Formats: sequence, structure tokens, C-alpha cells
Amino acid sequence: MEQQQKPGVGKVYLVGAGPGDPGLITLRGKYLLERAEVVVYDYLANQRLLKHVPAKAQLVYAGKRGGVEHSHTQAEINQMLIDFARQGKMVVRLKGGDPFIFGRGGEEVEELAHHGIAFEVVPGVTSATAAATYAGIPITHRGYTTSVAFLTGHESPDKPTSTIDWSKIATGIGTIVIYMGIKNLPYIVKSLVDNGRSPETPVAVVRWASTPEQQSVVGTLANIVDVVRDTGIKPPALIVIGDVVNLRQTIDWFEKRPLFGKRIIVTRTREQASELVAGLEEAGASCFECSTINIEPVDDYKILDEALERIGEYHWILFTSLNAVRYFFNRLYLKGMDARDLKGPDIATVGKSTADLLLTYGINADLIPPVFTGEGLAQSLLDLGVEGRNILLPRAAAGREILPETLRGAGAQVTVAPLYRNVPVQGRTDELRAELATGRVDLITFTSSSTVKNFLDMVAAENQEELDRLLAGVKIATIGPITAKTVTDGGLTVDIQPERYTIPDLIQAIIETYR
Ligand code: SAH
Repeated sequence: MEQQQKPGVGKVYLVGAGPGDPGLITLRGKYLLERAEVVVYDYLANQRLLKHVPAKAQLVYAGKRGGVEHSHTQAEINQMLIDFARQGKMVVRLKGGDPFIFGRGGEEVEELAHHGIAFEVVPGVTSATAAATYAGIPITHRGYTTSVAFLTGHESPDKPTSTIDWSKIATGIGTIVIYMGIKNLPYIVKSLVDNGRSPETPVAVVRWASTPEQQSVVGTLANIVDVVRDTGIKPPALIVIGDVVNLRQTIDWFEKRPLFGKRIIVTRTREQASELVAGLEEAGASCFECSTINIEPVDDYKILDEALERIGEYHWILFTSLNAVRYFFNRLYLKGMDARDLKGPDIATVGKSTADLLLTYGINADLIPPVFTGEGLAQSLLDLGVEGRNILLPRAAAGREILPETLRGAGAQVTVAPLYRNVPVQGRTDELRAELATGRVDLITFTSSSTVKNFLDMVAAENQEELDRLLAGVKIATIGPITAKTVTDGGLTVDIQPERYTIPDLIQAIIETYR
């Protein structure tokens, strides 16, 4: 009876993943993913949700793509769930939308019940409501309809007798939402019109609802087949039929966001918080995150250690990057010291983000220059006078020399303490080039000179013709003038550059460009 000691052991949780946006899973669903030992997930469950799963959990892709590309049969999936549960595992079966709405969730738990396996079901936001909502269509509305039906359009039109009674549906229901109906759209339209629904009834077709790839088209029963054919809309898509579709003209909100439909490559270090990605996605963009550099610790912390031992002798400590703050404090703590030991020197940061991070370590920066660059910081210090001052500069092993050189030139003693190295990432080159080759990319963002250099290395910088071809029509945004100069030195043009060199300002500048 060992199995009963821990909740969840030997149990299967059928969890609705929601329609696509990973923010639309329930708190209960997320809680279970965070505790899963095995996750069996579908094509329609957004794979970004897997970031909630513990690293040691086993992930199994169950496939099932619109009935075309079954990587596991339903029987195999059922057996897999039973086997994992019998091994005593905490199993999450993650399914797109709601597990009990056209998701075969019922069949899966029936099998579990037959085999005496414990299970729970967590509902999800079904794609029908998401598609309508994200296309700006209230699925019911007092002024238009008081009823709604969810149908499957997957039924073969050749079936001698349809299980859908079109004569009752066609005029008996206000809003009709059809799953899996793209292939059979002509048959569906005909069934409704033949049974008395007006050909003028508005229809919306929404693909990849709630995701940055969402695509929607509108027509009437009379012309929607042509519209879908002409626009090339493919599954997975929902068909929303009824007068409520007209409300989209007034309340379409999701596709109206300033960066909706924009594809942006965000180059960054793997460790960087994805503040930039989050901000761009919030405005509707679809981001391809491309790590061009890894941050790794240096082998030897001798210079920093010595400096920390006589930290009271320094007049200034300068932080010129987020990573410098992080690595500095790690080392400080490792030596049994903390923020109290830094009460002697004044502390400056290169910009506001660095100062904000510093504050999380309990330190309020004494100086933030008005211009957020190494030059800006140097100028602010020169204005205060640095002659004879002892300055500690903890930073990347290979950093720009302008700051220490300027300060030394003005008579300061500068200790440069290397903390970490920027190491180019290998391996994602093919993926990056393939992304550019799609021709869908609108913009690339660079937040440091090293990301520019490594990006150029990854994308054939030695071959200008190839580079021009891949970057044709792609805009470039940089965070500040130093990064911008690296871009122009690389033979490219900078299109967007905020006035203040911070991530929020960069996001704002990009939004303004496309608004
Ligand atoms: N259980 C799921 C439905 C699975 S059936 C749910 O509750 O949503 C698969 C069908 O769902 C697809 O063919 C498509 O019609 C619809 N679908 C699922 N996710 C979708 C999305 N993000 N956008 C549009 N349609 C979607």
C-alpha cells in the first residue's frame, strides 16, 4: 500500500491545456504540471506549457495532428497511461482546449476506469470560446442570440445518415461553432442553407486562436467557402456562424494590438530574463528567441577576491551590466560577505535596469548617468572628479576598454575584475537561418554588441550577398548607440533606436514604428 503515501502516485490527471495561449491554462492545471513525473501531451497543447514541468519528468509526445499524422494510436495512448500509472507515476495527460470537448478525454478516462486506475479531470478553456473571444465575437449576446451549439465538422459527408440533425440545428440555434470543419466546409454550409439558415448569415473562420499566429477571415454562408479557399486558411481552425459575428467590427481587440502579426527575432543571452520578449508579445508580436551567447563564469576570481578583501579602500564600484551585478553578488555571498560590506564605496550603474537589479540586492545606486552607456557613465564620473580615486569595475572578461581608459586618463586607479565570459552559442544556426529564409521576419532586435557579432557569425557574415538576401526587408532595432555602431560596422542599417537605452524604451520605439 506504499502507493497511497504520496498524493498523485499512480494517478492520471487529464488536464485541459487551453486553446493555445499558454496563459490560458488553469491554476490547477499548472499546479499539476509542476508536480508531474510523466507528461503525455498532444499536438494542440502549446509546448511552452512544458516549461512548468520538472526537468527530471518524462515527456511523451502523443501526436495526433488533425487525424493526419498519428504518432500514437488512441489505443496506444490509453495503454501508455495505464502502464505509467501502474508504475506508480504521477501522470499528466495534457490535451488541447478542454479534454471533454471533442478531445477523446471521455474515452481515455473510461479506459482508466475500466482498469481501476485513479484519475482526475481538469477542464480547460475550449478553443471555441477562445476563437470567438480572440476574434472579437461574443459567443452569446442579449441582442443577438441566446443559444450556442458546439458541433464537430469532422463527420464524413458520405455517411448515409449524419448524427447531426441539420434540420434542427440550422434554424434552432443562434450561434453555431464548429470544430474540425475546414475540410467539410462546403458540406456544412450546404447543410445549413438547405435546412433554412439564411445565406446572409455571417461566418468567421479563426485559425490558431489566441496565439500570435492567429488568422481570421469573415464572410457569409454564401461566400465563406470561397473566402477560405482564397485566403488559404488551413486547420486547426474554428468556424463561428451567427449574427454575433457582426460585432467583430466594433470589438475586434486581439488582432488590433500594435505588433499583431509581426514576427520578431530577439537575440539575447540565454540567461537574460525575457523582459523584451514578454513586452513585444504583450503588444501582439510573435517572437523567435535566439540565444547568440551564453554567459559562463571565469575560471579565476583572484582579482575580485583581492578587491573584496580591501573593499573599504575603494571610492567607487561601477556596474555596467546585469550579469556583472549577479556574478558580483554571488561571489560576495560565497565569501561570507553581504551588502553591509559595501557601505564604504559609492556605487554607480550604467543605466536604470542595472540600478533596478541592484536594488533587489538591497543597494540603492548613488549614480546613474543621464546617458546609459559606458561613455555616459565615464562623463558623469569625470564631472564629479576622479583624480586619485580608487575604482572597482567588475564586468565581463572581454569588455569595452573605453570606460577604464577614460577614468585612468583622468587620474583614477581602476581595478577591472573579470567575472564572466560571453561565449557564442553554437548549434541553433540552422534554425535561425531557416527562420530568416521563410521571408516572414519583420524585425531583429539587438541588445548588445556581442549579440550582433555572434548573430552575424551565425548568419554567414563573411558572405555579404547571402546576408543581404536573408535580411532583405527585415528591420533592425538596437538598444543603444554602441550596439547600433556594431550593426553599421557589420554592413547593416539600424531602423529603430530608442532615445533612452532601456528595454521598455526599446519596446515602445518598436511599437511606435508599427503603430
Ligand atoms: N479539446 C479541444 C478540441 C480538440 S478537436 C478543445 O476543447 O478546444 C481539434 C479541433 O479544435 C481543431 O480541428 C480545431 O477545429 C479546434 N482547435 C483547437 N485549438 C484551436 C485553435 N487554437 N484555434 C482554432 N481552432 C482550434
